[in-house]
Amino acid sequence: MRKGQIFVISAPSGAGKTSLVKHTLAHVEDLKVSISYTTRQPRLSEIRDKSYHYISKELFEEKIHQGDFAEYAEVYGEWYGTDWQQLANIRSQGFDVILEIDCQGARIVKDKIPEAHLVFILPPSMEELKRRLNKRNEDSEAVIEGRLAKASNEIQQCISFDYIVFNDEFANASEDLASIIRSHRLKMDALDEEQRIKLEKMIHL
Ligand code: 5GP
Repeated sequence: MRKGQIFVISAPSGAGKTSLVKHTLAHVEDLKVSISYTTRQPRLSEIRDKSYHYISKELFEEKIHQGDFAEYAEVYGEWYGTDWQQLANIRSQGFDVILEIDCQGARIVKDKIPEAHLVFILPPSMEELKRRLNKRNEDSEAVIEGRLAKASNEIQQCISFDYIVFNDEFANASEDLASIIRSHRLKMDALDEEQRIKLEKMIHL
């Protein structure tokens, strides 16, 4: 069985990352998402242990000391982290894995796991981003301002990513994201056992 690949997906909040990831998970086979740990409270729309594993600050610190996280970062005053063991389990079962994390986390993952693929989702414009954040009606004015400031900073960093998905049209963007993932499965060094045997047989005909 081939070892699953890692796709780190980052975007400013409001860029449509969660919808794109959800759609991709439903349409690309053998793909799972890593469920992060966070100290923030669940939102009304979220499901415990499916959206995030919600834990206390104390437990989060304990997990840091135990070396449980592949990366962790403070985002908007709360802590978020990716669990090493969960990543390893998903990959060893032959699934590719999506990490839906912020840009700081993406860089740490790339440093620790250079073969990880970094994908940046770009929103259509700052005006549209602001409109979407306001429409979501989930955060206060101050939080939205903070998210917009962070967004502009993150967009400047996207040039260090491997791929960029322009999320102007959802259908095109989701197709692009699926193509990025699928194309990596066709790389010679990513072929699975069955594909390798088939290739060997044809080479030695
Ligand atoms: P939210 O609270 O809106 O769900 O997420 C806030 C930000 O934290 C988003 O950019 C999200 O991608 C990021 N995030 C979620 N999980 C992780 C994680 O495990 N590590 C890092 N570094 N960022 C995360």
